[in-house]
Amino acid sequence: MNHSLVSLARLTNCCVQLAKEAGLVIRRVQSTGHLHLVNKDTQGGFDPQTEADLAAQRLIVGHLRLWFPLIHVIGEEGELSGGAEDGTRAAPSGLAAGLEAVTLEMDADEVVVWVDPLDGTREFSEGNLECVTTLIGITHRGTPVGGVVGQPWFTSDAGRTLYSADGMAGVGGPLQVPAAIATEKGHPRFKIVTTKSHMTETMMAEVRQCNPTEVWQLGGAGNKVLALLEGKADAYLYHAPGMKRWDAAAPEALLRAMGGYLTDCQGGQYAYNKDVDPVCAGGILASLSRGNIDIMVRAINHKS
Ligand code: AMP
Ligand code: MG
Ligand code: MG
Repeated sequence: MNHSLVSLARLTNCCVQLAKEAGLVIRRVQSTGHLHLVNKDTQGGFDPQTEADLAAQRLIVGHLRLWFPLIHVIGEEGELSGGAEDGTRAAPSGLAAGLEAVTLEMDADEVVVWVDPLDGTREFSEGNLECVTTLIGITHRGTPVGGVVGQPWFTSDAGRTLYSADGMAGVGGPLQVPAAIATEKGHPRFKIVTTKSHMTETMMAEVRQCNPTEVWQLGGAGNKVLALLEGKADAYLYHAPGMKRWDAAAPEALLRAMGGYLTDCQGGQYAYNKDVDPVCAGGILASLSRGNIDIMVRAINHKS
């Protein structure tokens, strides 16, 4: 037996468990009322971090490295000293629903797990708690093959955890997919979801260039992708270099599992290899429909 092989089913299952636990940690910090907010941006911008971001990353990254010592794990908050606040425990046994169909075995050295312990920190600090997600993206040979999106506050009380892995059908967890998408006056809806806090005049002009029937400015990267998965929006546009691989990997995995796409603003794929610059410099487009990606690429690049 080759001990460097990692089972995607088992790794995804562990990430599901860790996202759930991270949600509890985030909720515990929030309940204390002491977030210890700092600004990580040294260039004059605002990139917030709180005690919840740090505690959740320690929990997730610490356990992944303990349980899978040969894979690569990259967390948004960098290399942190100290372990999980309440110690370490054994990896969960059993598999979450659907993962029994996942058969991929991966060479550990070709696996990179991208961790955004708390996406939507700005919204978290402002009390917009439903915007908060925990993102864990599993990539193999540079491509997302599994993902977990935890939402600690969902319908204002109990959280939820959604997950996917290559080989299982669709997305696991409580996803609320509508029966039919409303149309407006006989025209198909084309509702674009985009940034609330990083909007610029140029980006809004590009959004308008896509001829959306509606524009929705919403906080959080994971939160916006959940809006796509649940049919609350049709396309996601962010044409700026602020998002990172840990924002994109888990969302891309879930979108792919539903037949969708996450690309740069030219329609190209991001690579998720361990040595890559984590910045998604070409911006983000996402949709369940390739046609919607193509509309946005043409509009942004003035080909319409
Ligand atoms: P937004 O769409 O502006 O809510 O951004 C979604 C997420 O992407 C944020 O919660 C951050 O994790 C990340 N992000 C986007 N833009 C930036 C930026 N300029 N600097 C740091 N993080 C960013
Ligand atoms: Mg983020
Ligand atoms: Mg974050």
